[in-house]
Amino acid sequence: MLYRVEGIVIRSMDYGEGNKIITLCTKSHGKMGVLVRGAKKVRSRHAAATQLFTYGEYVFFRGMGQIGTLNGCEILESHHEIREQLHAAAYASYAVELVDRALQDEEAGGYMFEQLLAYLQGLCEGKDEQVMTHLFEMKLCQAVGVAPELNSCVCCGRNDQLVSFGWRLGGAVCSTCRKREHSQYLSPLPILKLLQVFAHTDLRRVGNVKVKPETKQFLRTCMRGYMDTHVGVRCKSTSFIEQMEKYDLAPPKVQEKPEQHTEKLEEQVQDDAKLAWNQDIKLDE
Ligand SMILES: [Zn+2]
Repeated sequence: MLYRVEGIVIRSMDYGEGNKIITLCTKSHGKMGVLVRGAKKVRSRHAAATQLFTYGEYVFFRGMGQIGTLNGCEILESHHEIREQLHAAAYASYAVELVDRALQDEEAGGYMFEQLLAYLQGLCEGKDEQVMTHLFEMKLCQAVGVAPELNSCVCCGRNDQLVSFGWRLGGAVCSTCRKREHSQYLSPLPILKLLQVFAHTDLRRVGNVKVKPETKQFLRTCMRGYMDTHVGVRCKSTSFIEQMEKYDLAPPKVQEKPEQHTEKLEEQVQDDAKLAWNQDIKLDE
């Protein structure tokens, strides 16, 4: 059967003499594997189509129960900006690996395709890689059905007085239960507010995300702890990100975007949740 599908390359590996096998996250058919003959040859017209993060329309033939064989590809967005920047490439590699490993074929539906595409576009536009990646993790957790409980206390069930995010516990913790838990596994209030915003944010509508450095630091601890405990997929690309952070390979300063982007995300945020975005708020309140 001949397929014509829009897809994003989430995995690309060498296969045999000069060939590659790519895994696509497609808009209409979940994840699909496609063999690209001769992709490693210098003058292959398909070489660009096999690069990680490439978004294109792929045409391939696939027999019953077999892997597809590429006939042609029209590249819609190469996302080359990501491959040219160490930080963006590291985070995006993690995101596509997560899609490859954490999602079943049927879970990688149209919604996750759109979220991944918006995520990659955001990185190309210079949005904060780390924050965008945590947002993407949240969308993935929701798609897989392991999203954190953020609207009621995971210990007692009450839905008021929520003061913290407990990543080991898997969600919000109220002021009473907080006293009984180990504080090293609990976040300050702004992180909970931020995650509540993430849960309701579609990556296609995200403006220029600004989160102050201390909040980002805490967010990283919380999301990594949460992903390790509740998703349990250890990605190879995670260790590269950790190395990058360890040696403090700071990303190059991204030029500020014009103001038109900045308001969009905040518009969706409830008033109290806006606290999380306030540059003046103290984390250890
Ligand atoms: Zn409670």
